[in-house]
Amino acid sequence: MMKEKITVFGSFAVDLMARTPHLPVPGETVKGSMFKMGPGGKGFNQCVAAKKAGANVTMITKLGRDTFANVALDTMTALDIPKDHIMFSEDVSTATALIMVDETTSQNEIVVTLGACETISKEDIEKVKNEIIESDYLLVQLEVNIDAVENVVKIAHENGVKVILNTAPARPIDEALFSMIDIITPNEVEAEILTGVHISDETKAQEACNIFFEKGVKNVVITLGSRGVFVATPDESKFIPAFKVNAIDTTGAGDAFNGGFCTALAEGKSIWEAAKFGNALAALSVTRLGTTTSMPTREEIDVLIKEIVD
Ligand code: AMP
Repeated sequence: MMKEKITVFGSFAVDLMARTPHLPVPGETVKGSMFKMGPGGKGFNQCVAAKKAGANVTMITKLGRDTFANVALDTMTALDIPKDHIMFSEDVSTATALIMVDETTSQNEIVVTLGACETISKEDIEKVKNEIIESDYLLVQLEVNIDAVENVVKIAHENGVKVILNTAPARPIDEALFSMIDIITPNEVEAEILTGVHISDETKAQEACNIFFEKGVKNVVITLGSRGVFVATPDESKFIPAFKVNAIDTTGAGDAFNGGFCTALAEGKSIWEAAKFGNALAALSVTRLGTTTSMPTREEIDVLIKEIVD
């Protein structure tokens, strides 16, 4: 099977999650009932999703010189993801997400500290530039310093590498960037922030896509949670429904979709087929707790897609 090369440029963060009988108020200390540490960060989640789905994928991120960095490196070793393009900060720590979950209401409070992920310099990018140029796809999010995103998108675009931008987490981006994007993949909230259109139905989704087209984006995929995705190319638009599953944890669903979507494109599938593949990967991921740990294997994805076809 043809497998073009994907490079994910983005964040790695260690998720530090505690469950508690109630969320502490300022000044209060609460005894937690469970603690879990694991790999996360939008970029890393997408890379793991793609790798487990069978992609030829590399990760570019920046870590600190600390114990948390080992969480990334150990996971990469276990999943056989190349570690050659990891950058290190000598003085800033690895990104972390402190997550507190109320065990009765499931409400959470999260503090994300991007640390090393926010210190990606021009010099850092110069060192990994060849890796980007030699790729077929650059999959990038907005969870590292924005000037670094702008820099890598420009390098990819100028060298004929297809750019997939997942606009998460929502933040403003330089208008000049849009014309360098082959496929933009916002969720409905991000699409609204970037276009001003509230996506209430398919007509509105098309309206938002038209605004992205006017900005210079070539193709648009808006993810719509449990409903699926709206895909628009300059010639045709289609709504691709989500797979019906029993969702128990939708954290990282967008990352799962993006990792799967890009994997399928790199195998030569059409944008419509790739959206369906992304939907399948994401649907399986929401049936399990966690982010990287909830990403399914290729076999599981193929079984789900076949079940629907048969
Ligand atoms: P979101 O980031 O919420 O738009 O979700 C991203 C993708 O994950 C969606 O486009 C779906 O493919 C999938 N997804 C999210 N929630 C569900 C769900 N409850 N059931 C099935 N698929 C889901």
